[in-house]
Amino acid sequence: METALKKCGHCAREKLLSEFGWQNHATDILRKSCKECDSRAEKLFGIEDEYEARRSARLFLKYGISPREEAQLLADQNGACAACGEIPEGKRLLVDYCKEYNVVRGLLCPACSKMVSRLGSDLSMMRKTMAYLQASVSGF
Ligand SMILES: [Zn+2]
Ligand SMILES: [Zn+2]
Repeated sequence: METALKKCGHCAREKLLSEFGWQNHATDILRKSCKECDSRAEKLFGIEDEYEARRSARLFLKYGISPREEAQLLADQNGACAACGEIPEGKRLLVDYCKEYNVVRGLLCPACSKMVSRLGSDLSMMRKTMAYLQASVSGF
């Protein structure tokens, strides 16, 4: 019997672990929000498609962004990545969220999203990387 409790990141109630869905079964990670909050968020936007409803619920619970706001961002960026300006073929842009300031910075292609999460909001790291790249280019 599992009796450990976990606090839901959304409704902030202490619940049994069985009240949480899996974030990642392979690595034994439970979702931050409870099943009840998940299913409520899934119904929130009245999206018929199950996959889309889940996706919207995840984005909403994680970043507080609604499907409408996401669509607006996408329109503002003309469907292109906010960093490199490319439109990834057959892939969706990902929400780039700044944990430090709790804001959605924009939508990024998968490659830029990876790069940004590696660099984080640490600009000194970015400057070092740029200096490295510039030094190698000026050598030619
Ligand atoms: Zn909850
Ligand atoms: Zn990009």
